[in-house]
Amino acid sequence: MKYFILLTLMLALGSCYKGKSVDLIIHNAKVHIMNDKLEIAEAIAIKDGEIVEVGPERQILNKYSAETTINAQSKDVFPGFHDAHGHIMSLAKQKLNVDLRDTRSYYEVISKLEKHQNKNNQEVLIGRGWDQSMWNEKELPNNDLLNEAFPTIPVALTRIDGHAMLVNKAMLGHVGITDTTIVDGGVIKLENGKLTGILLDHALDLVNFKLPKPNKEQLKKAILQIQDELLAAGITHVHEAGLYKEDLDIFIDLATENSLQIYVYAMLLPTKENIQFAKENAYYKNNRLSVRSFKVIADGALGSHGACLIEPYSDDSSTTGILLKSPEEIMDIFTLAKDLKYQVNTHCIGDSANRLVLNIIDTLMNDVQDHRWRIEHAQIVKPSDYKLFSSARVLPSVQPTHATSDQRWAAHHIGKERLNNGAYAYNSLHKHSGMILFGTDFPIEHYDPFATIHAAVQRKNSNDEPIEGFLKDEAVSLPTTLKAMTLWAAYGCFAESEVGTLEKGKIANISIFDQNVTSTEKFLPNYSWVTIVDGKIVHDMR
Ligand SMILES: [Zn+2]
Repeated sequence: MKYFILLTLMLALGSCYKGKSVDLIIHNAKVHIMNDKLEIAEAIAIKDGEIVEVGPERQILNKYSAETTINAQSKDVFPGFHDAHGHIMSLAKQKLNVDLRDTRSYYEVISKLEKHQNKNNQEVLIGRGWDQSMWNEKELPNNDLLNEAFPTIPVALTRIDGHAMLVNKAMLGHVGITDTTIVDGGVIKLENGKLTGILLDHALDLVNFKLPKPNKEQLKKAILQIQDELLAAGITHVHEAGLYKEDLDIFIDLATENSLQIYVYAMLLPTKENIQFAKENAYYKNNRLSVRSFKVIADGALGSHGACLIEPYSDDSSTTGILLKSPEEIMDIFTLAKDLKYQVNTHCIGDSANRLVLNIIDTLMNDVQDHRWRIEHAQIVKPSDYKLFSSARVLPSVQPTHATSDQRWAAHHIGKERLNNGAYAYNSLHKHSGMILFGTDFPIEHYDPFATIHAAVQRKNSNDEPIEGFLKDEAVSLPTTLKAMTLWAAYGCFAESEVGTLEKGKIANISIFDQNVTSTEKFLPNYSWVTIVDGKIVHDMR
């Protein structure tokens, strides 16, 4: 009997000494919990995909045992970053076409296209990502060089912002555009009455709808490659900013097959098919894919004079830009979304578009407690309209790297006065709304979260330009930046009770970064050392 008691006692002590069993322990870490007090812990215990406890090193190591432990070597550990505005699908399509990002001249574009065509011999050539401001050209190009190089094969080249396209004569003929074609919400640019090959905003649809479609399997493969790249950058959540139904179906396939490792919060473009989907599904959740919002595009982009401004462009007094939907159309979509209890995230670049949409939300949504409607970009806002962000309770969702990319030419388009009063004004927007969300709009910018941190805090691009920082008064602090990429971004997609902080009960989506994040002035380069989704290691550089 004595022996039995002793044995029981030993077993009890033994199991106690071994600790409670969990799946994963991260220790010797600088764990940024990202709660209100911005507390820092040393270790985390994880079981069944959830955080069981966060605390001091000894407390966690004494209390728990796990088959897998990660000694984080004092590295910074964060909730997996969100990109609150990105386009996985566009990047996938870009990868399947001729990638023209980083081309330094029109000639380089032509030579890239020729190389691609020599290898692939396609019937139609599609390229994406050119930006004439990178060629030291302020004005949009015409198609002369393109016609010379490709007299018979139709070519369509989408600009980096997705709001302008350069096509050759063969493509104009192929889709039936003439110098008398008129398009609602779009521009077919003429020079001395002749087609230049430049199409803006809705004029792109005339071409896009007639382009050969990439096949589904190719797209899925490209998305999974992008997923690996994003996880390696420490991004575990992407707010996918605008999908057609056929593209949503690809994400649904990936989610159903359980091959989506990254969390995708998809915004639907308000097409007939998508509205039907919203009516049938209400809030849709399938593994890591969730849908409960529309993306509405109110105006175009600044670089192609499409952003809708209150006063004319400084470099072209004949235009104030393009409002892509009438106030009535916007009102109709918003009312429908309100009935469906869907969030609406509206693309507004110019101060006129921002003012219009803020005012509509302010009146339409004042009886809805917690609508969380967002404005995407909020790039140029009249300072007198800042207060609308708080009265309408609209979340600004911005891309700090847009500021540091556009600094090369923004003053040329809108002038110094507007630039210094309400352009790329992230600090002012944050102060007025109390919360701000950060993304990159990839593939327009690189998805690298550290380029975002660098741009938000230092107001410099990846080459450290400009030296003094661009509109430095609008810089935000590092803690604000990190919240905009974690907890506030999670709030912006209704996920703050599940992710966004490293607290007990939350889903274990975690990034451990290779280089120091918080006690340095130098944010670049950096990447994820280990990325964890649902408690499982999905990227490992140890
Ligand atoms: Zn976008």
